[in-house]
Amino acid sequence: MTSVDYLVIGGGAMGMAFADTILSETDKTVAIVDKHHRPGGHWNDAYPFVRLHQPSAFYGVNSRHLGNDTIDQTGWNEGLVELASSAEVCAYFDQVMQQQFLPSGRVEYFPMCEYVGKGRFVSSVTGEAVTIDAKKVVDATYMNVTVPSTSAPSFEVAEGMRCVPLNELVGLAERPDRYVVVGAGKTGMDACLWLLGNGVSADEIVWVMPRDSWILDRALIQPGDFAARTLLAFADQMVMVAEAESIDDLFLRAESNGQLLRIDQTVKPTMYRCATVTHKELDALRSIRTIVRQGRVKSIQTDRMVLDEGEVAVTPGDLFIHCSADGLERRPVKPVFDDAAITLQTVRTCQQVFSAAFIAHVEGAYDDEAEKNELCTVVPHPDSDVDFLRTTLANSINGARWAQDERLSEWLANARLDGFSAANVDASVRAEALEKVQASGMAAAAKLATFLSEVEG
Ligand SMILES: Cc1cc2nc3c(=O)[nH]c(=O)nc-3n(C[C@H](O)[C@H](O)[C@H](O)COP(=O)(O)OP(=O)(O)OC[C@H]3O[C@@H](n4cnc5c(N)ncnc54)[C@H](O)[C@@H]3O)c2cc1C
Repeated sequence: MTSVDYLVIGGGAMGMAFADTILSETDKTVAIVDKHHRPGGHWNDAYPFVRLHQPSAFYGVNSRHLGNDTIDQTGWNEGLVELASSAEVCAYFDQVMQQQFLPSGRVEYFPMCEYVGKGRFVSSVTGEAVTIDAKKVVDATYMNVTVPSTSAPSFEVAEGMRCVPLNELVGLAERPDRYVVVGAGKTGMDACLWLLGNGVSADEIVWVMPRDSWILDRALIQPGDFAARTLLAFADQMVMVAEAESIDDLFLRAESNGQLLRIDQTVKPTMYRCATVTHKELDALRSIRTIVRQGRVKSIQTDRMVLDEGEVAVTPGDLFIHCSADGLERRPVKPVFDDAAITLQTVRTCQQVFSAAFIAHVEGAYDDEAEKNELCTVVPHPDSDVDFLRTTLANSINGARWAQDERLSEWLANARLDGFSAANVDASVRAEALEKVQASGMAAAAKLATFLSEVEG
């Protein structure tokens, strides 16, 4: 039986980012078990036209750059730093495994294997069961990412009606009468943008939008020369929060200073899930006029689509595009460190790979479990509009705690996956932003806590 320091279940982005930091910062050994044939997790199942939603510069593992920080000259992301495609993300993680992890002699990799518990996993190719003796087991599957190609829609589809995951758009043999995009998260937005980008008229698209969403402006989430803007926008956010008079006022201020966007300015969003777009994308999405705001789809019948709050006439000539998987499930919070178990979760909103690398650093650099858990206080995935407040507050509390620790601050300042790191931001801009955050941070945190107590009772 093989024996290792860490048995990592899941070779997706989080498992890889965790393993990378352990390998870089300690002399420990790691085994990685994954059901897929290569690392990268859900990126192996993603729709072919997916790209990262945030710049490549912040993604992947801490020790290896992803992409070249090229500024896109064309397309929806024009003028902003490149976003890796799913093929690039998969190739990148494969290189990390083949060129770094395996040659280190400290990693064993078990693809095509399902973990069944107690150090045991079974190969789906040979049926062979292997048990590994590990000092610690790292659960890198807990976030439970699901994508449309691997999870059937939750609604019924009558015989004769066509409903496909958006992956199948690229293989369509003939044009349907209308494209009915089911889901208005980032995946639904991507489906609409792909259709529009391929010449489909906005009039041929029906967009089922159970909830409207507050959306982030990608121009404010940029590395390199742009990072200053990102950091100053964060500092401005603290000032804006401190000055807000109510929750509604806070959202309006965030919108008027460009930090939050929405598709329709006459509809109050009730969702916030870190979806990120450019203004070009937003303008294109706004060209879609047939938006169904009647809750979630319950069934697709041969003549109508039944939703929570009504029905819409449809025909067998319509193509329904399933974009309703939960890629950002809100999971119950668990302690990250629990004796011999480590459960990877987010310690900064929607920054999964940063969080996994951060947790690995804390694992390697600190001994006391209570302190480790305090440093790695989980910031659960947002879902509702009010979660924007919750995550902003939780991020600020974590950030303030980390700033008290000199060694940790130094690590953060050099972490590639931390968009606010010194590697990404000029020192004078950091100082300016820090001054703003220090001046308004406490007031902003108090204001957020007050607003939250109003809604939570
Ligand atoms: C379309 C899309 C775009 C995104 N874009 C960005 C972005 O730009 N920037 C960003 O920071 N985040 C982005 N995210 C968030 C993204 O989910 C994470 O960054 C990250 O890829 C998630 O990785 P993971 O390791 O948590 O999960 P996964 O990719 O799901 O990896 C988990 C792995 O565990 C394996 N597994 C599960 N159970 C078992 C078992 N019992 N035995 C063995 N193996 C098992 C699975 O097969 C899988 O390979 C995006 C997400 C989606 C869906």
